[in-house]
Amino acid sequence: MQNTVPAQAITDLVREVAGSVYVPGDEGYAREIAGFNLRSTHEPLLVVAAAHTGDVQAAVSFAAAHQLPVGVKNTGHQPFPAQEGFVLITVGAMRSVAIDADRAVARVGGGARWADVVGPAQEVGLAPLNGSAPHVGVVGYTLGGGLSPLLGRVHGWAVDHVVSIEVVTADGRVRRVARDEEPELFRVLCGGRSNFGVVTEIEFGLFPLSSFYGGGIYLPGHTAEDVLRTFAELSRQPLPEGFNCSVALLNLPPLPELPEPFRGKFLAHVRVSHLGTDAEAEALIAPFRALGPALVDTVSRQPYSAFAAVHADPVDPAPYEESSALLASLPDEAVDRLAAFARTAAGGPVTVLELRQLGGALNAMPAHAVPLAARQAGFIVWGATVGPPPIVASGELALRTLLDELSPWSTGLLYTNFTGREDQAEDTFDVDTLADLREAKRRFDPQNLFRVNNHNVDPQ
Ligand SMILES: Cc1cc2nc3c(=O)[nH]c(=O)nc-3n(C[C@H](O)[C@H](O)[C@H](O)COP(=O)(O)OP(=O)(O)OC[C@H]3O[C@@H](n4cnc5c(N)ncnc54)[C@H](O)[C@@H]3O)c2cc1C
Repeated sequence: MQNTVPAQAITDLVREVAGSVYVPGDEGYAREIAGFNLRSTHEPLLVVAAAHTGDVQAAVSFAAAHQLPVGVKNTGHQPFPAQEGFVLITVGAMRSVAIDADRAVARVGGGARWADVVGPAQEVGLAPLNGSAPHVGVVGYTLGGGLSPLLGRVHGWAVDHVVSIEVVTADGRVRRVARDEEPELFRVLCGGRSNFGVVTEIEFGLFPLSSFYGGGIYLPGHTAEDVLRTFAELSRQPLPEGFNCSVALLNLPPLPELPEPFRGKFLAHVRVSHLGTDAEAEALIAPFRALGPALVDTVSRQPYSAFAAVHADPVDPAPYEESSALLASLPDEAVDRLAAFARTAAGGPVTVLELRQLGGALNAMPAHAVPLAARQAGFIVWGATVGPPPIVASGELALRTLLDELSPWSTGLLYTNFTGREDQAEDTFDVDTLADLREAKRRFDPQNLFRVNNHNVDPQ
């Protein structure tokens, strides 16, 4: 890898692109490399903030000509090890959205976020398979699997509903791929993400839905163990696929902007959504409501556009690290481990520990798709610690200890979208899938140009 590029080459690139080019020291460089996770600190040699597909082509060709690796970033929600001396292509300005109501399909730019899509889709009564947070990027989320807390158990992973992808590959070509158009590249992009190119446009299916019944029940921290046991009991029932429930244990900071019942408190947060009748959901969540008076209960009929109220994820960038595990099942012994964690979690370093149930259509294994490890799991445990380095270090240690204790029930692999900073391709794909992706990498990116800011599939 070379560390410098002739100044003239950069001047030529600046002339060629409609977006912006930044080198270290430029005003705008720090802003462009920043992401949602404030602990992510890449130091690229050059940043190309692409305005359109042609800019992405110019950036990829420039990197290839100068033998510089490429990283792709949209919102910077997912942490990867910090690297330097590469070309960072940011796609955050490419946020076009077009809804085709007749086909029930959305076509969006490579930098679109869910907040850009849900409003226009709702205008024609449709909903995408978006995740819990409006500010997450569509491409990173979808091509990593895409677990929709509202629709996933009914329609499966978002990646299974991708219709076509426009991508700039390592050879600088723009290709439009679909199940019947360059199917091999389409298949490996659906799971391999930026290993195979920079996605400049993506088309995906939408579903008729205008409202749901759901929200959050916030219970005092002393109920945390009971909440976990109630969740486990509920998950063993034959639940309707349209019913989703997850629980989170939250250590909230003493920030003045938080409402009083939450400020500085340890809470159990039950997140609920249901696509059937209100009465069905009321019956299913009654055991949680029976645990005592809630601090706040927002579960009610809501327009789909209020989906973010279910998880109520934080919206401001913060410094954090995260870890996760996929569990095949959640027997009583596993719940006991989680309960022991809950008994000592109040005021501890871990900011959030969440447990989501999968199941339903999420366990389908379509023949055309890259086998996502999460398809074989029943539950995901995910945790994060926000704060200064010593707090993050002790939170990560506590989480790792818990995840080790849960290892008898773990599938041994991780869900691509919920990995921690140091997790690699080997942690997210089984051996056969990784071999298959390596083969594809040798074909589409033999020099491993796209090897930064992703779970890199090494072609060697
Ligand atoms: C608050 C919060 C809530 C979340 N909720 C959910 C959820 O409900 N369900 C779920 O499945 N996940 C969820 N996630 C995880 C999220 O889906 C992943 O972090 C995802 O990778 C974010 O994608 P991004 O583009 O926003 O982030 P980035 O960090 O910018 O990108 C993530 C990865 O995608 C690649 N990428 C991004 N854009 C492109 C592109 N145009 N072309 C090629 N590669 C690209 C990047 O190279 C990188 O490898 C959540 C994350 C957060 C922080």
